[in-house]
This record gives sequence, structure tokens and C-alpha cells, in this order.
Amino acid sequence: MASTTVFTIANQKGGVGKTTTAVNLAAALAEQKVPTLLIDLDPQANATSGLGIEKEEGRSVYPVLLGEGNIEDMVVETGRKNLYLLTSETDLAAAEIELAQQEDYLLQLKNALAPLFESGQYRAVVIDCPPALGMLSMNSLAAADYLLVALQCEYLALEGLGQILSVVDRLHEAGVNEELQVGGIIMTMFDVRTNLSREVVEEVRTNLPDQIFNTVIPRTIRLSEAPSFGQSIFEYDKSNPGATAYRNLAKEVIKRFELKKK
Ligand code: ADP
Ligand code: MG
Repeated sequence: MASTTVFTIANQKGGVGKTTTAVNLAAALAEQKVPTLLIDLDPQANATSGLGIEKEEGRSVYPVLLGEGNIEDMVVETGRKNLYLLTSETDLAAAEIELAQQEDYLLQLKNALAPLFESGQYRAVVIDCPPALGMLSMNSLAAADYLLVALQCEYLALEGLGQILSVVDRLHEAGVNEELQVGGIIMTMFDVRTNLSREVVEEVRTNLPDQIFNTVIPRTIRLSEAPSFGQSIFEYDKSNPGATAYRNLAKEVIKRFELKKK
């Protein structure tokens, strides 16, 4: 296994907890001494602002995707130990069009990440995807070792799951990324007060017992407030159940994928 493991958090649906999971899982891995690079691949840049990072002109994932910048020069420090960020920018929406004009348009991100594997500086890369299976998400799936699906505990949760999982098969068949595996399903926004949440988790557990993580992320107001302060849950309210959950999830991820600590 390569010493750097790349995870992409994707789901074509918006509002299911991808960004919240990307930010807090990355922060939790960093806290567990796993040097982690978070890549914000959503033009909405919620992961970037959620960590309170201001985008620097010309320094983002954009030039990286277009093969115009060295990735190591584009990564910014977050002021947190072991946590680094490749910021997004609004123009990333335009990058989708420019990407389409590149020869290896699905492999731009994968090719750009290559120098990181040589340096081995990061043990984990976590990619936050936009809410669509467009060019950007496809680039992240092409570059990833594992797809982590954030799945909201809601009615019909399983419906959208089939679509994202079938993309993995199609990328295999097309020879774009034969190594890509479904790394796991993260149940988000679990509401202890409703039977529905419990039923949805049960249903996923029954259908995909090997995929679902034991840790379920609870719905808590503190998780939704933290980004407006530019903080992860560990900075905003480290004893909150949301913080405990993401810390447990990070431990599960470290174990399941044998991530190496520093
Ligand atoms: P996505 O990236 O999939 O669009 P987000 O992570 O941005 O989803 O989450 C959508 C909304 O739900 C945001 O307002 C976020 O703060 C909120 N949210 C996400 N996870 C939780 C949670 N566990 N508890 C409460 N609110 C949450
Ligand atoms: Mg998002």
C-alpha cells in the first residue's frame, strides 16, 4: 500500500454532510497525528471558509487541475498541526469547462497529486467534492484510492447511493481507475429523536454491512455552527457529541486503512 492514502468524499446530492465530514474528518486525522491534506474541490469553497482560510490569489486547486502549478507550492498551512489545505475558488466552476479541453481530462488531479506520493509528506488526502458527478468529482474519483460516501439519515437515503456506487464500476470498466474501492459509508445527521434515523441506519447496515462505518454522526447544532467561526468542531466545541463522533470515525478510518501516524 502506498504511504499516502487518498479519500474522496462524494455524493451527487447536496446538503448530505460531505463538507462537514471532509473538514472534521481531516481535522480529526490531523489530531490523531496523521499528516493530512484537505482538498476543497467544490467551487462553493465551504471547506476553505469552514477552516477560516482566505484564498490567496493564484494559489488554489485551480492551477493544479489545469496542470499549471506545482501542487506543493499551492498547498497552504491551516495554522493547525498536521493539517494542510488546497483551497477552492469560485472560478473552479470555469475550470470544469477548461478541464474538458485537456487531453487527459479525467486524470488531471491524479497526475497533479503524483509529487505528493514521492515526498510522502501526507499520509492522508481528503477531497471534498461538489454536489454533482461532473468533471470535478470524476477527477477526484480518478485520483482516489477510496470513495467515502456521506449518507444522510433520511427517507430514501439508499436511492441515491446506487448511483454513486455504480460510478465506481464504470470507472473500473473504463480503465480510468481500476484501484478505486468503496472505502465506506458514513451515516450523517443521525437524529436520536426519530425512528426514521434508526431505520435508515438499520437498512444500510443490513444491505451493506461491510461498508457502513460503526460510527454514526449525530445531528447537532454545534456542527452546523462551527464553520461560520472558521473552526472545526474540535476548536469550536471539543466535548460536543459531534466532536466525539468525528474523532471515533477518524480512529476507524486509521484502523480500516492502516494509516500511519507521524
Ligand atoms: P454537503 O457538503 O453535502 O452539501 P454540508 O456538510 O455542507 O453538506 O451540510 C449541509 C448542511 O447541514 C450544512 O448547513 C451543515 O452545517 C449541516 N450539517 C451537516 N452535518 C450536520 C450534523 N451532523 N448536524 C447538524 N448539522 C449538520
Ligand atoms: Mg459541500
